[in-house]
Formats: sequence, structure tokens, C-alpha cells
Amino acid sequence: MKSAIQTNLERIQHEIGNCKLVVVSKYRTVEELQTVYDCGYKIFAENRVQALLERVNELPKDIQWHLIGHLQTNKVKFIVPFIQLIQSVDSLKLLEEIQKQAEKINRKISVLLQVYISADETKFGLSPQELDELIEYIKNQPMSNIEIRGLMGMATFTDDENQIKQEFQLLKQLFDKIKLKGIFSQFDTLSMGMSSDYKIAVHEGANLVRVGSAIFTNPE
Ligand SMILES: *Cc1c(COP(=O)(O)O)cnc(C)c1O
Repeated sequence: MKSAIQTNLERIQHEIGNCKLVVVSKYRTVEELQTVYDCGYKIFAENRVQALLERVNELPKDIQWHLIGHLQTNKVKFIVPFIQLIQSVDSLKLLEEIQKQAEKINRKISVLLQVYISADETKFGLSPQELDELIEYIKNQPMSNIEIRGLMGMATFTDDENQIKQEFQLLKQLFDKIKLKGIFSQFDTLSMGMSSDYKIAVHEGANLVRVGSAIFTNPE
């Protein structure tokens, strides 16, 4: 018999089509995550560095790990050796620390810039203006151990689908604008959408969604 997790994954995969599914593993048991892995999904994300470091040891070695939560500069060195994508870069200071630590071990680290698009009082993410300023700055100060791959954003927690849609449209516009500038050679990732709003996000142009609870809840 199919597990609930497998049924959910098949439904979500069908709904998102070619969009990449990143499995948000926070708060889940190793058994639940192993089930996801056994269904063929190998890109997982955590929002806290400590949890991420524990998970890496508990789960199969060929999982690609993303960080999706706020990263303090003093923790960069712990994840730089293995992280596949840091989705939550929100300051120049953090970029500089990633550059420094990556250079030490001769790795190139892929990152997304996190943009603040919601009306919620979240603490992290660049405003569209700060994003502009940061990009103008790094244009002239290339960081050779960092690959800026795209943008990440979270919409407001609301039932108002129209508002969510507008926020995702804003992020897509920012993404397209930066891509057109041609500053970054592999600017190809637009990470938006989670359990409550991934369908809207995909419709608005996301090519990576970060889904947790929708994978692990029992279908009615
Ligand atoms: C927790 C989290 C998600 C996934 O949330 P769900 O509602 O469980 O799908 C996605 N993105 C970020 C940044 C998160 O912290």
C-alpha cells in the first residue's frame, strides 16, 4: 500500500510539473524523511544551521542540502563544506563571509538572495531597493567563490490569494530585471511557494518550491 507521504508527493509533483521540489525537512522524523528519500526525492532544506548539521549525519549522504532560514555570519563556516544552496542570503556582510570561508576550502557556493515581499513583519530579507544596491555593489566587486543563482521570497500568510499573487509577481519582475542585466552567468533560480501557496507560485513563474507540511499531512 502507498504511504500518505508517497500519495502527497505524487499529487504535488503533478501540480508543480517541471518545477523543482525542495523538501523542507524541519521538525520531521528521520523515518518520515527516509520515506521521502525512498520515493526518489534528494533535495532537502532546513531553516536552522544546528538542525541541518544533525540531519546531514542522520540521512543518506547523497542528499543535497539547502539552507532556507536566517544565517548568522559566525555559522557560515560550519555549512560551507557541504551546502548545495544557501537560499537565504540577506546582506553584504553575509556574502563576504561566505566568500571568505568558501575561498579557504576552495569551493564555489551557490546562493539565492532573499527578498522581503510580504506584508508580515518578518525580520529577514532585502527590500527591493536594498537588493538593487547590493547588486550594484557586487557588480563591481565580483566574489569568485560565490555563484548568485537567483532570488527567494516568502509571501504574506493570508487567505487573500490576490495579495499572494501580487507579491510573487513582484519577485518575478525583480528576478527578470536582474537576469536581463546579465551580470550573473547562472542566474536561473526563482524560489517561491510553500505548502499553502505553491500552486500560485508556480503559476507566477517559480521554478523551485519549498514544501514541508503538505508532504507530511494525512490526505483526507
Ligand atoms: C518552513 C519553511 C517552508 C515550508 O513551509 P511549509 O508550510 O511546511 O511547506 C518554506 N520556506 C521557508 C523559508 C520555511 O522556513
